[in-house]
This record gives sequence, C-alpha cells and structure tokens, in this order.
Amino acid sequence: MFDALSDRLSGIFESIRGKGRLTDADIASTAREIRRALLEADVALPVVRTFISRIEERCKGAEVSKALNPAQQIVKVVNEELIAILGGETRRLNYAKQPPTVIMLAGLQGAGKTTLAGKLAKWLKGDGHSPLLVAADLQRPNAVNQLQVLAERAGVAAYAPEPGSGVGDPVKVATDSIAEAKQRGHDIVIVDTAGRLGIDEEMMQQARDIRDAVNPDEVLFVIDAMVGQDAVNTAEAFRDGVGVTGVVLSKLDGDARGGAALSVRHVTGRPILFASTGEKLEDFDVFHPDRMSSRILGMGDMLTLIEQAEAVFEEKQKEEYTEKLLKGEDFTLEDFLDQMQAIRKMGPIGNLLKMMPGMGQMKQQIDSIDDKQIDRTTAIIRSMTPAERRDSSLINGSRRLRIANGSGVTVSEVNQLLARFKEAQKMMRQMGGAMGIPTGKATKS
Ligand code: GDP
Repeated sequence: MFDALSDRLSGIFESIRGKGRLTDADIASTAREIRRALLEADVALPVVRTFISRIEERCKGAEVSKALNPAQQIVKVVNEELIAILGGETRRLNYAKQPPTVIMLAGLQGAGKTTLAGKLAKWLKGDGHSPLLVAADLQRPNAVNQLQVLAERAGVAAYAPEPGSGVGDPVKVATDSIAEAKQRGHDIVIVDTAGRLGIDEEMMQQARDIRDAVNPDEVLFVIDAMVGQDAVNTAEAFRDGVGVTGVVLSKLDGDARGGAALSVRHVTGRPILFASTGEKLEDFDVFHPDRMSSRILGMGDMLTLIEQAEAVFEEKQKEEYTEKLLKGEDFTLEDFLDQMQAIRKMGPIGNLLKMMPGMGQMKQQIDSIDDKQIDRTTAIIRSMTPAERRDSSLINGSRRLRIANGSGVTVSEVNQLLARFKEAQKMMRQMGGAMGIPTGKATKS
C-alpha cells in the first residue's frame, strides 16, 4: 500500500544522508519534499499541514542529539510525527465489565465489514474468547450466507434469521442475538450491519436503531483504504451520525496510495484498532501506529531497536559508540562486550534479536542463546587484553588457550565466541548501512 510513499521518503532521506550539518535551507527543502510526497500519496491537506509544521519546528529547534547524525535525526522526528498522526499508542479493544462485550461494525457496502467480522471472530477465538457472529445485514443479498460460511471457517458460532423465516428486521435480529449470547455463554457479540453504496439517511437511521438496541461497547467503522479521501469523509459522516468509537482499515494489501489510511485518525479523531490485509481470515492484525510508521519509512523494526538501545545505553557509551559508527570505524570485541551488557539489561535477548530484519531464518540459533551464555561471553572477553579486544585477529592459538584458562572455559568455547562476534560484526556493518552510516573501513578482525 505505501510503496510509492516509502520510496519517496527513502529518496529524501538518502539525499541528506551525507550532510554533516543541516542548514535551515536544508530543513525547508526537506520539509517541502516530504510535503509533496504526502500530497502525492493522497494524504488529506490538514493532516499534511500539521505534519510538516511539526517537522519543521522540531528540526529547527534545539532538539539536537549528539548520538544521531542530521539525517538520522530527521528520520527520528518524521517517525515520531508519523506515529502521532497514526494515533500514538496502540488502542486495544474495550471489553464490557459485564459480558457479553458487544462490537458493532458499520461502513459502506463493499468496505469489507462481513469479511472483517469473520477475521475479528477468529482472532478473538484465538485469544480465548467465545464470540457470536450476528448477521444483521439483511440488505445485501447473500450477506447472511457469507457470514455463516465465514463463521464456520473461523470455527465460531453464528446467529442469523432462518432462511425463509420472514424475519427481515435487523434491529430484532441484533436484539435477539444478545439474549442468545447470554444464554449460550458467548462473551463477545459481533454485529455485522448493512451498508449502502454511499451515505444514506435510511442506512444511518438503521445503524442508530441497532446501536440503541444493543448498546455496543465498540462501534467500529470499517474503511476501505483503497477508496482514498472519500472514505475519510464517509468516516466523518458515520462518526457524527452513528457515533464511531474506532476505525478498522481494510484492504491495506491493495496498491492504492494509502492517503486515507494516513489521514483517517487525524481527521476523525478516532483511533485505528485493526488492519485487514487480504481476503483470507488470517490477513488481519491489531494496528500498531509505531510498526506502521517504521514500515512506511522502510526500516523494518529497526527504529524500535534503536529506541531500546538508546534508552538503555549509558549516555557516554552511546555517544562514543555512535561516533565510532559514524566515523566508519569497525565494531570491536569491546563494543560487543558493551552490547552484551546492554542487552542483558534489556530483557530476554531472543525477543530483541527477533525484531531485527532478516532474523527470521535464524530463529533456532536465537532461541539457543540464553542469558547465562551472555555471562560466559562476558567472562571470556574480560580475559582478553585491550589490544586483543580492539583487534581480534591477534588472537592466535596460544592466546586462545590463555583466554580459555583465564575465563574457565574450553578453547572451543572461545572459538565459538569469536565466530559469533564475527557474525555480529557483519550484522553491525549491515545495520550501519541501513541507518545511513558508511560501512566499517578498518576491518581488523
Ligand atoms: P461488506 O459489504 O462491507 O460486508 O464487504 P465484504 O466483507 O463482503 O467485502 C467486500 C469485498 O472485499 C470481498 O470481495 C472481500 O473478499 C474483499 N475484502 C475484504 N477485506 C479485504 C482485504 O483486507 N483485502 C482484500 N484484498 N480484499 C478484501
């Protein structure tokens, strides 16, 4: 969805990468480029204005970090502002104190409501809930049948009028479903309602009637992200007409420009709770503004990693380390030791490593690293001389034996550590590359 925007932003960051210092003119032209990229991505004008003025203000202001170079600082500010535009914190579902929790879905026809109902039900079931899917869309031919099929595929119960029973009143279906849920012990009721092709007073009235009958804990507006600006206007109309508590983005897998997805939170003031990314029931996830932003910026979860590292590293250590990377110096055993200690403070190492792009295939190795091993590694590095730590190529056979004896491990453990260090060194060079830092020039290892 955001490919074109991602490409544009990467290009803009690329053009300022080599600069040692950004002048006001640099900041202004970067802001202008970003503005253009957002408008081309069909982001609503008020959103673009807010976004750009925040970026300019923060980049010109005193927010200068010694740990980051100018390009990185801009990436950081853009990332933070993008997260803010997308809603900041992840907004979780509100559950009723007294079950069942009632979730009502609203939106235009074809937005993806019925599909979403099935996805949400499956996801909630996986989370240990027992949802009941309710077919209160009696308008669209086949909607009832579609919902029943989805419920079956999701392995959850459905509530719908019997075919040919003559029950044509969606408000009654919705009301009855709540009694049914209580009787059968369902803790969540998901009510799918009818949409129209456009805003229509009769549809709004029906949605209000259903809302009043079931008193929902959440009214989720499903917005088709492929539709663009119009979808955002519709979202506002539903917010005012029915009272929407949250938004679900559907069809994020499409190749539209993504402006609606980026505008809807800011324009409607309603949080985005979920995202739908395909036709299959599994193509669904909780919406995390921070992850979406890093995806748009094309940095995987690297930004999360930088943030965590920033939070934990000692200030001085961080500066020295960044400076080193910035100067293009290589990653040494000394740095490896610092990192081990920082990682140890951050909590389970596996989780951290798994966040790094491209680490999926290494899952097995990652799972085998434990915190005790970090302690052994620390002991081994501490048994090395400063010269050895700076230049691991010095560590020949007799030095390896000395280090093994000094740290109470076997030579093969020392060998393994050095092999792992080489891997890490390689990874750091790649990471430096991804962050816009030139790769290491001194390759003493
Ligand atoms: P409703 O009228 O709002 O209930 O919309 P539907 O749930 O029937 O969805 C309309 C069409 O969009 C169907 O063909 C769905 O398969 C498709 N659809 C729904 N969600 C997604 C999605 O996230 N990605 C894609 N590619 N298609 C979707």
